[in-house]
Amino acid sequence: MNIHEYQAKALFKEFGVPVQDGVAVKSPAEFDAAIASLPGDHIVVKSQIHAGGRGKGVFADGFKGGVKFVAKSEAADTAKKMLGNTLITKQTGPQGRTVATLFFAEAVDIDKEYYLSILMDRASSKIAIVASLAGGMDIEKVAEETPDQILTMLVDPDIGLQPFQVRKLGYFLGFGAKEMMKQWSAVIKGLFKLFWSKDCSMVEVNPLVLTKDGKLLCLDAKVSFDDNARFRHPEVEALRDPHEEDPKEIEAGKFGLNYIALDGNIACMVNGAGLAMSTMDIIKFFGGNPANFLDVGGGANEEAITQAFNILLKDKNVKGILVNIFGGIMKCDVIAAGVIAAVKNVGLTLPLVVRLEGTNVEKGRQMLAESGIKLTTADSLADAAEKIVKIVANENK
Ligand code: GDP
Ligand code: MG
Repeated sequence: MNIHEYQAKALFKEFGVPVQDGVAVKSPAEFDAAIASLPGDHIVVKSQIHAGGRGKGVFADGFKGGVKFVAKSEAADTAKKMLGNTLITKQTGPQGRTVATLFFAEAVDIDKEYYLSILMDRASSKIAIVASLAGGMDIEKVAEETPDQILTMLVDPDIGLQPFQVRKLGYFLGFGAKEMMKQWSAVIKGLFKLFWSKDCSMVEVNPLVLTKDGKLLCLDAKVSFDDNARFRHPEVEALRDPHEEDPKEIEAGKFGLNYIALDGNIACMVNGAGLAMSTMDIIKFFGGNPANFLDVGGGANEEAITQAFNILLKDKNVKGILVNIFGGIMKCDVIAAGVIAAVKNVGLTLPLVVRLEGTNVEKGRQMLAESGIKLTTADSLADAAEKIVKIVANENK
């Protein structure tokens, strides 16, 4: 789960990490008071969306820049152009994201920019701290072109962040002077504590800046949380912005369906996460592209299957559906009844391939055959995947 920059900065503050002051607003009525509350004669107007690259982003109507440094007198006009507009950045995809919140931030005079992130490194089972002298830039690009500008430090989760690691990172970034090291320690220790105590999967500051008056400050902030630890952080759950999430995924959650939208055109309905993963793999193997991951669970009934079809069909890219269900606890005839009812309920017209296996499979297949529904049956996972990939490819020639 991700949160907005302004929410991340509030968390930073809580952990003693310096950020520029600012106010989040959701309507033009709040603009004037928010702008007046900030010091100086310039401010930065920042679009709040769960995607990076906002500064270089372009709005759907051609207005340039999702982060704008402006004179206070122009701030409200600029903000009006941004709020409610759709911002397209390198990370949003061509459809962009609607800006529903703006963050008015105190303008800062920058001397130097740095990059800093803390994340899970699965390969080493440790926490990685990545620091770079090339701030404000795409870190993947820096890693590729100038890897000597990056220092990665692995922190053992059993021991935690050690003072020598703080110093080594500090020296690498050029914070050797006593006063700078003190500021740096507060930043990295605070962020590490936040990462640890809130079960984050990533904390990223790009850029971390040194201001003209010698202060270290987080100018941007991105925080993601580990979904598996959500149950123990109701305070994090409260930061969720449903506006930023795929409505199909929220809908699926309500029916206990485990759905994740992807960008292919073959919708999958499967029971069991492992089977769902292999189904996606095998679709890829035959040259197709899955439109989603969907695990309907072990106890899916007719209603759940109907809801699952409804959710799959909301994705306009979908050109065909593959149902792959293993009837273990649940019997194949029950599943077949569910599929038949669901197809009739939603008036399905797209090609459908169904593979059933398990208890009462003969009865289930017979019900499908006699249902009058236009579908293709398959008798193995590979057969099913190959069939749907071919049908979809032929229909889109
Ligand atoms: P991003 O484009 O989504 O990563 O958004 P950022 O918050 O990183 O802002 C983009 C860029 O705007 C930063 O890399 C800075 O160069 C610039 N910027 C943001 N705030 C300020 C500020 O207060 N002063 C100055 N001079 N530049 C800023
Ligand atoms: Mg940034």
